[in-house]
Amino acid sequence: MAKINDNYLKLPGAYLFSTVARKAEEFAAAHPDRELIKMSIGDVTKPLAPAVIKAMKAAADEMGTAEGFHGYGPEQGYDFLRSKIAECDYKSRGIDIDISEIFVSDGAKSDCGNIGDIFSVDNKVAVCDPVYPVYVDTNAMAGRAGDYVGEHWTNLYYMPCTEENGFMPELPKEKVDIIYLCFPNNPTGVAATREQLKPWVEYAKENGAVILYDSAYEAFITNPDVPHSIYEIEGAKEVAIEFRSFSKTAGFTGTRCAYTVVPHTLKIDGTELNSLWNRRQCTKFNGVPYVIQRAAEAVYSEDGRRETKAAIAYYLENAKIIRAALTEAGLTVYGGENAPYIWAKTPDGLKSWEFFDKILDEAGVVTTPGSGFGPSGEGFVRLTAFSTKENTIKAMEKIKAIL
Ligand SMILES: *Cc1c(COP(=O)(O)O)cnc(C)c1O
Repeated sequence: MAKINDNYLKLPGAYLFSTVARKAEEFAAAHPDRELIKMSIGDVTKPLAPAVIKAMKAAADEMGTAEGFHGYGPEQGYDFLRSKIAECDYKSRGIDIDISEIFVSDGAKSDCGNIGDIFSVDNKVAVCDPVYPVYVDTNAMAGRAGDYVGEHWTNLYYMPCTEENGFMPELPKEKVDIIYLCFPNNPTGVAATREQLKPWVEYAKENGAVILYDSAYEAFITNPDVPHSIYEIEGAKEVAIEFRSFSKTAGFTGTRCAYTVVPHTLKIDGTELNSLWNRRQCTKFNGVPYVIQRAAEAVYSEDGRRETKAAIAYYLENAKIIRAALTEAGLTVYGGENAPYIWAKTPDGLKSWEFFDKILDEAGVVTTPGSGFGPSGEGFVRLTAFSTKENTIKAMEKIKAIL
């Protein structure tokens, strides 16, 4: 008889976003006359840049010609895109990444999950708390997380990110093998400086650990002390894999293009992880469509850069508006300076869901309860800067009026 992967049965339901959506729908049904503003969206809202659309259309036309048709492409991505990535995202920052170390993919989310394929199920995995749920759930599916007991997976090592430690995880007190780090962070919106990242690279070197570094929000960095890549830290090429995405950088959430960097110098017992990941991708992945890779390439053109930068600046302006308004309303806020997320402390010791309900019922504004990202997120709500400026201003006025 066939057996299922019963690790899937251990997963708790995805209550967070479904409950947020249900409560918002209930509010809309009960108050058809009242406006509802979503400050909870984790998706970009601005359209793709004109330069990107132009390249996408040109590539689509090419595909309709005998000379320009492209069938199966290289699983690792076309060299025209990989060389732009190596040049513009790395060489320009003094980092030497060879194109053979770059794997173009359909998403940082998929890669963050799929990367587990090349690691033994016996590894001890460390995650931040609160955390982007993908790291946790994919390890649980693989059988690396143990059992879910009282809001915790028994085999994961949790690194609380709290107000006390400035939302910076502390180095593990026991030996761990794989460490997920995400900066600028989703959900806290906090970014790590070079000085703050150095000890992690040292820890990984000393313990033979691998850092899985998610820098999906790199484009939002404004502070010069915050590195855009983990490879800006000396020695990181021996211990870290980096995930990047065009999703938040260039509005590709519905277009799908990302990449993962696996340096040749990253080895375990003499085996290059690069060759394992290459093998995995060649077997299980068909590559990103030619048309989409041409669109991603255009992000690096002069027009593409200017246009995508303008969209990021727009979101960062929203973040500034949120920070200022909530501070004026007497709340303590974090993040939002190098990230599109604001992590707001609930007033009067309210629980995340209590504050969520209050803002929804009284102001008609939807947020995301921090507790949904992990136990250490209790007492916070996340607001995003991905709304329109008009709605952001309106939502902040409504929140200010009720606090
Ligand atoms: C949005 C996001 C990503 C990007 O995922 P894609 O699959 O490339 O769209 C990766 N990591 C985090 C933490 C994110 O919030």
